[in-house]
Amino acid sequence: MTRHPATAPITQDVVTIRRDLPASGKTNIIGLTRDALADILRAAGTPDKQVKMRVGQIWQWIYHWGVRDFSEMSNLAKDYRALLADRFDIALPEVVTRQISADGTRKYLLRIAGGHEVETVYIPEESRGTLCVSSQVGCTLTCSFCHTGTQKLVRNLTAAEIVGQVMLARDDLGEWPEPGAPKNETRLISNVVLMGMGEPLYNFDNVRDAMKIVMDGEGLTLSRRRITLSTSGVVPEIARAAEEIGCLLAVSFHATTDEVRDRLVPINKRWNIEALLNALRDYPRLSNSERITFEYVMLKGVNDSDEDAKRLVKLIRGIPAKINLIPFNEWPGSPYERSDWERIEAFADIIYKAGYASPIRTPRGEDIMAACGQLKSATERLRKSRAEIEAETSR
Ligand code: SAH
Ligand code: SF4
Repeated sequence: MTRHPATAPITQDVVTIRRDLPASGKTNIIGLTRDALADILRAAGTPDKQVKMRVGQIWQWIYHWGVRDFSEMSNLAKDYRALLADRFDIALPEVVTRQISADGTRKYLLRIAGGHEVETVYIPEESRGTLCVSSQVGCTLTCSFCHTGTQKLVRNLTAAEIVGQVMLARDDLGEWPEPGAPKNETRLISNVVLMGMGEPLYNFDNVRDAMKIVMDGEGLTLSRRRITLSTSGVVPEIARAAEEIGCLLAVSFHATTDEVRDRLVPINKRWNIEALLNALRDYPRLSNSERITFEYVMLKGVNDSDEDAKRLVKLIRGIPAKINLIPFNEWPGSPYERSDWERIEAFADIIYKAGYASPIRTPRGEDIMAACGQLKSATERLRKSRAEIEAETSR
């Protein structure tokens, strides 16, 4: 049952910007849904009968070919290209820095409207490459083991800023297709995970619109099974994510009792383990996907005992699941230690013997602070005060 606290719930008093207006005053067409793009083309005088075709053409230039200039859209009439350039922009965040780890992981620091900064991480592996995308600047939540959680939430990212992260990484990796070139079987960015800064389900509409573009057959064409959204457990939005996005789901579970989860993932005080599990039980059916990933950060002496492993297996019984064990990544001032390797393996073994895949996530890009939970834009110096964190976690 969902617990309703007597005091105010953890909410997000965040301004969500649905459209960003670049300095030019023109409308940015990145991040618009097909319908929204159709509306502005119609308003700009595109004849009704042509709107659908024009949307398809512009969409393909931008999201399939990676074109950033209306003048290059050679299947549109010259004066129509000029009209588009006059009214609209194709604007992406600005890449401020790119760091490359010894293990090949790349971290991009991006500047967005308002001068804020977010991070995006590319993790190359042998047979795939994963782009870890941010959904907010900072986070309203205060998970006690997460670096992002110590940063004040500044604002939700727009759909343009979310899909823009994928586009900028493709620019850097040189991954836009060349006309006539054979199709690349394994894409450099073969998977997208919403596991960067922020809680994606607290920026639902923009995350959904951006992922729709990533999944679109004429857009970035990644299958919905190659996109994973990670949530700390925003229970009321889980069914909606299944229905409106339909990607894979990961949940930051991290504890097997409410007492410990309240401390680690404070949103548990609003929706406890039972409420969360109930929402998760329906997800595979609603989204027509196979398994939910349970993320479990391994914190020495906090949540890593054999009893925890056994309780975990019991709790998730009946839910098609895989358990992803994440060795804790330290950050300056972090209050926990990583569990010993033997402990992590013993924990994994109990889960594996109970019939669940229990991969241990290899920390990537630690030397450039790009590993899970280490992201925090240094320029956002505002740190949540101890009082603020306590106020949020005691609700
Ligand atoms: N806000 C979302 C998605 C971003 S975090 C969420 O919480 O699910 C991606 C994953 O990294 C989450 O499972 C998160 O709990 C985990 N994480 C956060 N800080 C970490 C740290 N310091 N070490 C290891 N994993 C961490
Ligand atoms: Fe926010 Fe996720 Fe970090 Fe928790 S783990 S503070 S929800 S980014």
